[in-house]
Amino acid sequence: MVYMSFELFNYYNRPKVERQFILDEIKTKGVEICEKCPEMCESRTLYAYGKPTFGYGNINSPIMFIGEAPGKWGCGVTGIPFTGDRSGDYFQKMLKEGLNLQLKSVYTTNSVKCCPKDNRTPTPLERSNCLKWLMAEIIYVQPFLIVTLGMSATKVFIPETEQFFKVHGHDKTLGDDGEIPQIRVDPLDTSKGRYKWSDMVPHNAMLYPTWHPSFVMRDTPHLEPRYLGEFKRMEKMMNMAFNKWSDKNPGSW
Ligand code: SF4
Repeated sequence: MVYMSFELFNYYNRPKVERQFILDEIKTKGVEICEKCPEMCESRTLYAYGKPTFGYGNINSPIMFIGEAPGKWGCGVTGIPFTGDRSGDYFQKMLKEGLNLQLKSVYTTNSVKCCPKDNRTPTPLERSNCLKWLMAEIIYVQPFLIVTLGMSATKVFIPETEQFFKVHGHDKTLGDDGEIPQIRVDPLDTSKGRYKWSDMVPHNAMLYPTWHPSFVMRDTPHLEPRYLGEFKRMEKMMNMAFNKWSDKNPGSW
């Protein structure tokens, strides 16, 4: 088994320029002018950033963190996920203490790109509408580990989740037969097919659902030791996913 540090992953990864260009194009020519959800188009203008947000950070990161949606005091103001509010500060603290990484070292994004009014939870249809932007990020970043923070982001991958504790902390390999359901991108449009996560993450990325930082920080601070332990485990999980992929693709590494 090969064991890779975060820095080695970063070194191994492919040239960034072309993928960064494509992601920038998707951001400016797609996401920022998206008007798919009427309520979101109104609510995003209530907050200082005023338009849809997109992911931030290192597109060679082997770990992608996915939150729910921009927060009205945080990303809804700064345009950068996990910045500007206490929840973002707390997430960055976990990143530093658990993985010795900074926000700019990893790739962070939200499952829904527009800031909902008063931080309401996005609807399943809004999550579904916004999935194509998240898919683009996954396709061009190609992380080995996808960490969903909270119920809403986890439902993108495991829509049938009703009780978070049943999936929390249980890693899954995306694309394994039967484990991750195919997802209809637009449930109202039957003409479109369904996507398989294995099409988007052909290297069998691992999914790891954990709590949203705002939940631990605000409501249940006694959970911090466990939360920190989960951040510490992420390097190991990233390596498990990498080794699974490299076993199936001898010569790629
Ligand atoms: S939430 Fe997503 S799909 Fe809906 S309008 Fe905003 S960017 Fe478009």
